[in-house]
Amino acid sequence: PATLTLDPPPQGKLIVLTGPSGVGKGTLVKALLERHPDLHLSVSATTRQPRPGEVDGKHYFFLERHHFQQMVAAGEFLEWAEYAGNLYGTPRQNVEQQIARGQIVLLEIELVGARLIQQTFPKAFRIFILPPSSAELERRLRDRGQDSEEAILKRLRHAEGEIAASHEFDLQVVNDTLESALAKLETAILGQG
Ligand code: 5GP
Repeated sequence: PATLTLDPPPQGKLIVLTGPSGVGKGTLVKALLERHPDLHLSVSATTRQPRPGEVDGKHYFFLERHHFQQMVAAGEFLEWAEYAGNLYGTPRQNVEQQIARGQIVLLEIELVGARLIQQTFPKAFRIFILPPSSAELERRLRDRGQDSEEAILKRLRHAEGEIAASHEFDLQVVNDTLESALAKLETAILGQG
């Protein structure tokens, strides 16, 4: 008699991407999502003001501080942290539902939150994006043209401390060229070359 074989249920995964400001996390995540529409990027909550063009519920959930703090008290974040005077957090519910459905969920978050994830979601795979060099990071921060000299120097000093923590992560990927960094991320996330 024919035997009935069932496909194993799909494996959901949580992938955390972190790295210093200016390293190009956002560009890498955007390229990954364009190439792999089946990946899901978690939408974070934040208390910072929307930038021009940012849409509530798409780029972030923009919340008043008291609302954010209510969610913290209710345990509704997988992690949260303060960054540059604003609060940022990953709402737990969507992430857990998507993973239960077998989907791959990406978080693009700063270092403090990425460390907390290890406690709240130990199975997460955590990736640290490194700049090719400190000089290159400085060049990229300046090229964005977004920040004052003081802000650039502050971010650079902050970056040195962050880079020192990169060894805590499951994988370090140097963002030298977009193509080579993407290939490494694809192998790690999707298990293909
Ligand atoms: P921005 O204000 O430039 O959008 O983000 C500032 C920093 O906050 C970035 O490093 C970004 O990765 C981080 N971030 C965004 N969402 C979250 C989050 O949900 N949790 C944490 N811990 N950091 C976040």
